[in-house]
Amino acid sequence: MKTINDISFKDKKALIRVDFNVPLNENFEVTDDTRIQSAKPTVIKILEDGGSCVLMSHMGRPKGVQDEFSLRHIVEKIEDVIGVEVKFVEDCVGSKVEEATMNLKPGEVLLLENLRFHDEEKAGDKAFAEKLSRLGDIYVNDAFGTAHRAHASTTIVAQFFPEKKCFGYLLAQEIESIQKVMETGEKPVLAVLGGAKVSSKITIIENILDKVDHLIIGGGMTFTFIKAQGGSVGDSICEDDKMELAIDILKQAEAKNVKIHLPVDVLAANAFSNDAATQVVDVNQIPDGWQGLDAGPKSKAIFNDVVNQCKTILWNGPLGVFEMESFASGTIELGNSIAEATKNGAFSLVGGGDSVAAVKQFGFQNKVSYVSTGGGAMLESLEGKTLPGIAAILS
Ligand code: AMP
Repeated sequence: MKTINDISFKDKKALIRVDFNVPLNENFEVTDDTRIQSAKPTVIKILEDGGSCVLMSHMGRPKGVQDEFSLRHIVEKIEDVIGVEVKFVEDCVGSKVEEATMNLKPGEVLLLENLRFHDEEKAGDKAFAEKLSRLGDIYVNDAFGTAHRAHASTTIVAQFFPEKKCFGYLLAQEIESIQKVMETGEKPVLAVLGGAKVSSKITIIENILDKVDHLIIGGGMTFTFIKAQGGSVGDSICEDDKMELAIDILKQAEAKNVKIHLPVDVLAANAFSNDAATQVVDVNQIPDGWQGLDAGPKSKAIFNDVVNQCKTILWNGPLGVFEMESFASGTIELGNSIAEATKNGAFSLVGGGDSVAAVKQFGFQNKVSYVSTGGGAMLESLEGKTLPGIAAILS
């Protein structure tokens, strides 16, 4: 895997695809700068080598040019985080932009305007990618969050740098973390899959059965498995049309010697509300009018035991409706167990979809080994797909 460590950037201009798709408030202030922080090590390494950086990113989903999506709004924040002056140019292709990159000196940083102001970006247009390629000597992809998209700046542009393209530190770290779980991780390997629906996680489950020793299935997905095995799930979320699939997954797991752990009890509520009446019930005997919204105490204890036996842990998806305080404790306790296992030497990776929101909400981000920066990109990686942005650097 070629990373920025394999290249000297002295007197070179690096064209870096970063993911600065950061949230802004109504005053256009950045409310979460994680993604800018994540790109900092790559930018610093290139500047310290004696090179210069041309940063390109998208932000939001603009329809043509819309000032509210201008990257101009985040210039100051980037300067604060990275600690160097950031020049800004009001487009991302064209003669004015080429001139700005031509005038860039070693040690300087230039930010381009939002790539998605041009429809050609998302279309993966080759002529547009060629125009982008004029803006640097070496192409660096450091945007994991868009690595699953074959857009001009994430994938197509790489063809114009056949010998001069590499991964930035962030993207390299994301790839290594996934490999640690899926290929090289110390055994026993555990995946915890929670969240709402079996249907959205099917491909992940099927792919992961070849990689793990233990699989904890929690959250709303539980009830499709329980009902399929003859349990009563009351009013819990359940996908009847996926019951056959659930049985097939259980059979596949047995054949592959993967131990599946489903909740044995749940905290059930008489309404989908934080203030609903609740009771702990056996997962197979949820009364009508009641729905399972969190893991019960016996399940939490079992999951804690499993987590503590394992040396490599992947966590995707909450164990309950964590957005409501009354149903957050299963997810919090699982996070605590994973934090403890990590402290004792396990490698833990959290990512995909909403998992990162849960981890941040409960302050686990510094207690696990790695929190992925890509929602969709992570899910597709766990499904076993080769992401186009990654393939473009490797080819
Ligand atoms: P996902 O995006 O598939 O990871 O699903 C995350 C969502 O699953 C969160 O919004 C949770 O509130 C929801 N969820 C977790 N457990 C349950 C449950 N038992 N019943 C309904 N929704 C759930």
